[in-house]
Amino acid sequence: MTPLFEGIASFCRGRDSRQFSIEEATREFLERIEREDQALGAFLSVNPNAINRARQLDNRLARNPAPSPFYGYPVAIKDNLHVRDLPTTCASRMLANFRPVENATVVDRLLEAGAIVLGKTNMDEFAMGSSTENSAMGVTRNPWDLRRVPGGSSGGSAVAVAADMAPMALGSDTGGSIRQPAAFCGVLGLKPTYGRISRYGLVAFSSSLDQIGPFARHAEDALEMMLLLSGPDGRDMTVESRDPSEMARDFGRKVQGTVIGMPEEFFGDGLDPAVAGSLERAKDVLAAAGAVFRPIRLPSAQYGINVYYIIATSEAASNLSRYDGVRYGYRSLKAKNIRDLYTHTRQEGFGPEVKRRILLGTFALSAGYQDQYYRKAQQVQALIREEFDRAFHEVDVIFAPTTPTPPFLFGEKVSDPLAMYLSDIYTISANLAGLPALSAPSWPTPEGLPVGAQLIGPAWSEGRLLRLAAILEEGVGIHRPPVATVGGGEAA
Ligand code: GLN
Repeated sequence: MTPLFEGIASFCRGRDSRQFSIEEATREFLERIEREDQALGAFLSVNPNAINRARQLDNRLARNPAPSPFYGYPVAIKDNLHVRDLPTTCASRMLANFRPVENATVVDRLLEAGAIVLGKTNMDEFAMGSSTENSAMGVTRNPWDLRRVPGGSSGGSAVAVAADMAPMALGSDTGGSIRQPAAFCGVLGLKPTYGRISRYGLVAFSSSLDQIGPFARHAEDALEMMLLLSGPDGRDMTVESRDPSEMARDFGRKVQGTVIGMPEEFFGDGLDPAVAGSLERAKDVLAAAGAVFRPIRLPSAQYGINVYYIIATSEAASNLSRYDGVRYGYRSLKAKNIRDLYTHTRQEGFGPEVKRRILLGTFALSAGYQDQYYRKAQQVQALIREEFDRAFHEVDVIFAPTTPTPPFLFGEKVSDPLAMYLSDIYTISANLAGLPALSAPSWPTPEGLPVGAQLIGPAWSEGRLLRLAAILEEGVGIHRPPVATVGGGEAA
């Protein structure tokens, strides 16, 4: 193991003591991508300028000390976030040739700190899905078992980190798209509080739910990324001016006496016994650190999926109306008039799941149905929020599974949309309530498949959640997938 794979603090020490140059570090990851990604398929594009940038950063480092922990740090970016000079495809035919003219705010912040974009990662088309099987660009495989899906929609970012092709990656989470693939790939994934991080330059799916967040091997790394990315941005008015350094302060606090709620509804029928068994041990780790567990109830959470598939599809139908073949993206050549142009472009450009969502959302918003569906969904959403509020009067944090099962096989759910939707049953309510939530690796199942432990907190409690994730990391140890890893097998 080299300092490149042991977390950002060790990366910084290696960089600053000239144990390696930034160019060498960048090459190491690019070579890993070249070697491993043939089989894994995490990347849709690799940055051809990465080495050049690394050299420039090395030159500056010869004269000045590194201004940020992220100076020279390589990252992978989900392909729905704009990086200038690289395509943003959203894994859709619709945007196959789209090149953004500017960076997403999160990408700007990374680049200003000196980070290096390694490439863009595969995803479900327009972030709609839970397995990355809805990508129009190809298959991404789970490094723990190549017959299994990596989860989704940020499957490529999760695999990039799990297989050490990037030390950290960014994804987006609307209903679970960071936490679910993190759980399936055995890495940490965090969905921040709604309003923590600017979404400027993120291709919109469901704007009242979308958040950008990190994938990392180590809790401390995720904290660093949060400190860098958080805070107001004139280009996204939903971001609140909260002092990010609160997170660092909370991360430093003791766990002793933290009250952790276990919602009965999340541990009942439908939870795979291997997942339940793994979480039992994770709970022991937190209890040994002084956390106190208490049962709680979240009865409305069971309606989360229903509510989500009204709200998210309605917003998606509206957000995706901009792909009309006129302004940018794919344009059908078959059209003879403007109406045809819209129809053929959307017919040919969108895949089946995206079309399904547009139809559902358009239906839910149709005249006469709005009250019956959209308004009703918002009312239930308010109930879910209130239940969380009430729960956080009794407990500091909520502990739950991230997913009901370990990673499933390719094809197992893709022809049954409802079965696929149910894979987000435990993640969706945090989005509906706007709360921060993370998935941290728990022990693998007896068959050696990853399991995620989910921690949900009150708004702005990311620091506290990451502290608990750090405790889990210490207790569970770092487990790496048997294929495609540095050092091979498991390393503690
Ligand atoms: N899997 C969920 C969906 O298909 C969530 C996706 C996401 O968070 N982007 O919509």
